[in-house]
Amino acid sequence: MLNHSAIKVSQLVKTVTTQEGELTILKGINLDVKPGQSVAILGPSGSGKSTLLGLLAALDTPTSGEIWLDGTPLSGLNEEQKAALRKQKVSFIFQSFMLVDTLTALENVMLPAELAGMQDVRNLAKKMLQRVGLAHRLSHYPKQLSGGEQQRVAIARAFICAPKVLFADEPTGNLDKQNADRVADMLFALNQESATTLILVTHDLQLAHRCERQLLMADGQLSEPTRTPVS
Ligand code: ADP
Ligand code: MG
Repeated sequence: MLNHSAIKVSQLVKTVTTQEGELTILKGINLDVKPGQSVAILGPSGSGKSTLLGLLAALDTPTSGEIWLDGTPLSGLNEEQKAALRKQKVSFIFQSFMLVDTLTALENVMLPAELAGMQDVRNLAKKMLQRVGLAHRLSHYPKQLSGGEQQRVAIARAFICAPKVLFADEPTGNLDKQNADRVADMLFALNQESATTLILVTHDLQLAHRCERQLLMADGQLSEPTRTPVS
């Protein structure tokens, strides 16, 4: 087996042009994440966390620097190749769930597996929904589900293709404590079972400390504070 990182980032810079001029959102990010690791990214609103996640997931293009996703340098890929790589290796969970309103829970979970041309998709999707405790909600539409249920559908959808890397942007941000805990339990259980690398942006310190690593984004720079022992 190749011994490469799940994600490696070197000198990543992202600058955008705004009406007020150039804005450098990311100012030289370096990062190395091993396969199967769970990493939390903390930091104030507006510090560049979502921008970084979008770049790592090959949804956006950096101004300079390089990203290797499961060993593949993203700079060498055109849009089509990036889309293929995303489909093959990456899943994304958003704070706002991002389910398709016109599809049932089951159909939402089936969708990425169908796009990937997998076999026996309906049964697989049923198993995934059972896994997140929603076997009794297969034919419900997103509007007919609670926030916690919708996020669990999103998790089932994210894991159906057994992604190498799962990115989650404030996955518990819209949930109450009980549902946040349940969603976190699911994330870590599936992370362990399928050895998925987990990169999650969160304001929830409890969730962050369930991850193996905690990184801090501040003003476009990423640091890894050494944990101070609790006295
Ligand atoms: P976070 O997720 O940490 O809250 P973001 O990555 O969403 O931060 O954004 C970082 C900063 O960059 C914010 O100030 C945001 O307004 C700005 N920003 C993000 N994307 C763009 C863009 N496409 N054009 C202009 N400004 C942007
Ligand atoms: Mg954000």
